[in-house]
Amino acid sequence: MSQQFWKPGSEKPRILEDEEGGVVFFGPPLSSAASSSSRFGYASIGSQRQRLPVYKYRTAILYLVETHATTIIVGETGSGKTTQIPQYLKEAGWADGGRVIACTQPRRLAVQTVASRVAEEMDVKLGEEVGYTIRFEDVTNPAATMIKFLTDGVLLREIMNDPLLTKYSVIMVDEAHERSISTDILLGLLKKIQRRRPELRLIISSATIEAKSMSDFFQTSKKHRGPEDHEFVPRKVPAILSVEGRGFNVHIHYVVEPVSDYVQATVSTVLSIHEQEPAGDILVFLTGQDDIDTAIRLLTEEAHASRKISSGLIVLPLYSSLPRADQDLVFSPTPRGKRKVVISTNIAETSLTLEGVVYVVDSGFSKQQFYNPISDIENLVVAPISKASARQRAGRAGRVRPGKCYRLYTEEYFVNEMSSVGIPEMQRSKLVSCVIQLKALGIDNILGFDWPASPPPEAMIRALEVLYSLGVLDDDAKLTSPVGFQAAEIPLDPMISKMILSSNQLGCSDEIITIAAILSIQSIWVSGRGVQKELDEAKLRFAAAEGDHVTFLNVYKGFLQSGKSSQWCHKNYMNYQAMKKVIEIREQLRRTALRLGIVLKSCEGDMLAVRKAVTAGFFANASRLEAFSHNGMYKTVRGSQEVYIHPSSVLFRVNPKWVIYHSLVSTDRQYMRNVMTVDPSWLTEAAPHFFQHQRTPDSIVH
Ligand code: ADP
Ligand code: MG
Repeated sequence: MSQQFWKPGSEKPRILEDEEGGVVFFGPPLSSAASSSSRFGYASIGSQRQRLPVYKYRTAILYLVETHATTIIVGETGSGKTTQIPQYLKEAGWADGGRVIACTQPRRLAVQTVASRVAEEMDVKLGEEVGYTIRFEDVTNPAATMIKFLTDGVLLREIMNDPLLTKYSVIMVDEAHERSISTDILLGLLKKIQRRRPELRLIISSATIEAKSMSDFFQTSKKHRGPEDHEFVPRKVPAILSVEGRGFNVHIHYVVEPVSDYVQATVSTVLSIHEQEPAGDILVFLTGQDDIDTAIRLLTEEAHASRKISSGLIVLPLYSSLPRADQDLVFSPTPRGKRKVVISTNIAETSLTLEGVVYVVDSGFSKQQFYNPISDIENLVVAPISKASARQRAGRAGRVRPGKCYRLYTEEYFVNEMSSVGIPEMQRSKLVSCVIQLKALGIDNILGFDWPASPPPEAMIRALEVLYSLGVLDDDAKLTSPVGFQAAEIPLDPMISKMILSSNQLGCSDEIITIAAILSIQSIWVSGRGVQKELDEAKLRFAAAEGDHVTFLNVYKGFLQSGKSSQWCHKNYMNYQAMKKVIEIREQLRRTALRLGIVLKSCEGDMLAVRKAVTAGFFANASRLEAFSHNGMYKTVRGSQEVYIHPSSVLFRVNPKWVIYHSLVSTDRQYMRNVMTVDPSWLTEAAPHFFQHQRTPDSIVH
């Protein structure tokens, strides 16, 4: 079955709509320098750099940064914002005298790839002049690093130790249009920092036009008491620069009828492009690892069935937890006579640049976090994207020559039903981590904080409530000492932090750190498709009656005993890369714990201690098996939500009466992932206040 797309009349292409106004175009571009490189037959990296759209604005950018406290730069993806601007700043001397230029990204994978790209362009070793830091991984050299790429979350953590971020001369907050929760907090804090450090320069860069509201946000900055009219103080009014793209036209094709199965529709669309269209790579936007894997399997099967097709296709996945070697494949040039198909999450929407893409297939969906403060449930769900995202996705097809974008939704839907912009993450997330961070930064009036987008008050109140019950905040909503301050130091969900802190008293910190490390990895098992039976058998070899947390300890022990062997992992259907990551994270956590005065101590097999420590952090995630349930239905103690044990848990079908879970995922139902049995009396013991207003567990036990 091949997908039917509407082709506009006779050859009349639908051209990408122009974005709305609101942007000041600055200065005449310096055009002469840009073309000088074209006389070279091969493009050296230097001449490649000069051909990027931002190059024409190099002087303008440097001038604006010099003269304005904040510069907002809008430019299409691929125009060179991320890789070039930090280099221009360095060339202009912003990294002299030991100062550092920072460039933040919302995504870890983007941090790593852009940092290596920039190191390559500058012909330096990654980790020296150019470095990067992501959570659990610091590839910088404080004595040498001049340009540092980092996630916005990591920069937030740095503010805790250096409230004015004194080592940075310029901070570029990149991909601001994504409006990640950390970006929003960061923008609020940077605005404050700027008042204390008038010499600090900010660059806010983004791929879409929200420049006006961003500019308003920075403009309303309260009167500051600095030397306002001193000649070296930059202007307070933000400058806005729009870098014109060099994108080619993209023809948009819509489906005639809504599709029922977007994965299947993706596969047939890719195959018909491959059969009917001239050379050029295909970029497909799906939502996550699961549907990407399914699409790849279907595509490989169908291409195989028709041998004519299979010869020319290279099908590759792209998502953030992909191992490094597989990432490199995605970015390497397509061999002659072949066609690359990259099937990606929305990570390829703006933060990464793929060369050679001519066709884009847009499913119209992405995975998004939604939080319901009433039920206190946070879900990663497949949800429709916004028009702004759809335009970004289409734009990826016009990088090298005119391209085509196949939207797997109708034009009517695009025009009438798609929302124009997405909802900032701040307004659809759980705010526990956000609140604890702000508290640690001494921001007491969180509701009155100057946010780029205000978070819902219910979500704030929920977060305060949870932190209070964890003993992290006191009656005045101040961080408690030492628990609150210690929990804020640990770069993990406060529930995990609390679990680690409690393990110290319970004498099982060694085990709990292992569990914390494994819980921060998506999964330690290989993806189950096609090997489900073998995987289940492998799990049984480690399964513990107490549940997944204790099972993790068995797995970790086995891995150590095997001498951290990749073959051992392979034999046991375990993901070797993930296990190596666990070891790394564990080491980081060990060091963090040590800083907090926690020396690792093993409980030597006393699983009661381990389970109590887990309960101390996760009591709020307790649920109870429904008395007459035949299908394993549980109700959460908190909000009486209907939940089930996830099939990946070792307690699946075992259905003990009382459990606590690490997280919920919702597909057809709400599933509890990583589940452990508990004794209900531990819950009231761990958090008497918390259960006071609920039906107390004891009163429900018959
Ligand atoms: P922007 O941030 O404006 O989206 P980038 O600075 O990320 O743009 O990319 C600019 C250009 O640099 C891209 O168009 C591409 O030509 C090149 N580039 C970036 N990253 C890589 C990479 N990993 N490999 C090869 N080329 C790259
Ligand atoms: Mg970029």
